Amino acid sequence: MNKMKILVVEDDISVKNLILTTLKAHDYQYLYAQNGKEAIMEASSHNPDVILLDLGLPDMDGIEIIRKVRTWSNMPIIVISARSEDSDKIEALDAGADDYLTKPFSIEELLARLRVVQRRLSVVQSAREEMSFFTNGDLRIDYAAGVAYLKKEPLHLTPIEYKLLCLLARNMGKVLTHKYITQEIWGTSWETDIASLRVFMATLRRKIEPKGSKNRYIQTHIGVGYRMMKVDCDL
Ligand code: CA
Repeated sequence: MNKMKILVVEDDISVKNLILTTLKAHDYQYLYAQNGKEAIMEASSHNPDVILLDLGLPDMDGIEIIRKVRTWSNMPIIVISARSEDSDKIEALDAGADDYLTKPFSIEELLARLRVVQRRLSVVQSAREEMSFFTNGDLRIDYAAGVAYLKKEPLHLTPIEYKLLCLLARNMGKVLTHKYITQEIWGTSWETDIASLRVFMATLRRKIEPKGSKNRYIQTHIGVGYRMMKVDCDL
């Protein structure tokens, strides 16, 4: 896959310069917008592969941009925010963002996030070619048969564990909030559902995470949610 085209939306000049310099040094293509209006125009006319989006913009809230973009596109959006409050991240993720970076962040963190997105895009690509199966490391889901396998052995999952695994798999690389997951699984999002989610996640993990290498497939974002990571090679 060629290097991605990234739309950078940021009104802070020094942060913008840091990001653009980093992207240039790593051969990414990029576009730039300094406010919400420009961001929406650039996103719709140039169809970037990813948006790096600052939440605090002079003319509009970044959340509003996410909602607008989501009306026509699933392009990955990584939110960049000075706000360290979980509630802002959750609001952005629920509006359709894929991931977040909290200011101040390091260049390594930024590049790591972009790699996650790049992998997700390549998975989406191969998923189009192989619709009925999902493969990630030693994990395989046969959607038609409704069976998941680990190292070719069928996993004995409860219906909810299976549903949870499929939901995470379909959104690989994307952070899913507790609210989103419980809505998808139970149709509601009460505190008790979130407590149940923790229990099901623990039992699912016991079945799919190899002993001694905790949380290879499912990453926990404390106070926020969970994400399935792309796993490269078999252990
Ligand atoms: Ca800002």
